[in-house]
Amino acid sequence: MSERRDLPEKETVGFIGLGIMGRPMARNVLAAGFALVVYDLMPEPVNELVNAGASAVTSPAEVAASADVVLLCLPDSPDVEAAMSGPQGLLAGTRQGQIVVDMSTISPVTARALSEKAAAQGVILLDAPVSGGQVGAANGTLSIMVGGDAAALDRVRPILAAMGKTILHLGDSGAGQVAKACNQLVIAVTIEAVAEAMVLAAKAGVDPAKVRAALLGGYANSRVLDGHGERFLERNFTPGFRTRLQYKDLNIAMDAGRAYGAPLPAGALVHQLYAAMMARGDGDLDHSALVTLLEELAGQSIA
Ligand code: NAD
Repeated sequence: MSERRDLPEKETVGFIGLGIMGRPMARNVLAAGFALVVYDLMPEPVNELVNAGASAVTSPAEVAASADVVLLCLPDSPDVEAAMSGPQGLLAGTRQGQIVVDMSTISPVTARALSEKAAAQGVILLDAPVSGGQVGAANGTLSIMVGGDAAALDRVRPILAAMGKTILHLGDSGAGQVAKACNQLVIAVTIEAVAEAMVLAAKAGVDPAKVRAALLGGYANSRVLDGHGERFLERNFTPGFRTRLQYKDLNIAMDAGRAYGAPLPAGALVHQLYAAMMARGDGDLDHSALVTLLEELAGQSIA
């Protein structure tokens, strides 16, 4: 008996968007034994994947035509709209019943509109944004939040399992993006709260490192307090997760709040603080660099 028990009958996977996240995710799909067809606007990540065993095509439409299932991991809503539409776009190459999984973080409103557009052509679009960062992408341990047709998710689950450990079906189209917006809201507001608390400690003459250690042992403990609190103290603002992406994701959360009628008062404030970070030219720093803005407001550095 062959030991390659999961290799026969594997689908050909198309992957569009080979950036910080997409590149390691695509590598994991390849490593799981799927045939892989890739496309990106930049030649360098495409060449890297081709050297690893993928084949390259020159448009999203060709990806759709050469693959059974297509995955997207693009920066923002307009990028996904651009990749889906037009004569060279994905929907120009898809077949009836084909499944497309958008793993980008985009607006739930756009996700729902695109899913309807795809459905009009008999294509099933799932929204499946991820959490876990570059490390989770490299290790295949992402959390994947899926919205859309549950039966379609079951069909592509073996492919998603190559990239993520937690794969949750949240509901209808757009539900995955709503969950991701909630995730980004919690992270951003928590970064602000931890930064504010550590600046208060410093301003009051108490060692912020000791305050962090005390809080880690109690109910205020969080991964942000742990990881980002440490970054604050070490002045390590190398991304990680860039401020410009955090700002984009808060834009998405604010849009969703407006579209669905949910007031997001703390999110709105933190959105504006990240707008100030962008205006300062700090978009390429890690999102934990928000602490430097609070330090400036208080006239007090914590380290
Ligand atoms: P990135 O900017 O590193 O990569 C995006 C890639 O898409 C680039 O290679 C770019 O050339 C390509 N691209 C853009 N438009 C294209 C088009 N029309 N056709 C083909 N290729 C195109 O971004 P990233 O960090 O990989 O993030 C991708 C998505 O994942 C974003 O929505 C982001 O919010 C989300 N995300 C990122 C992280 C993280 O830690 N970086 C974590 C979770 C989720």
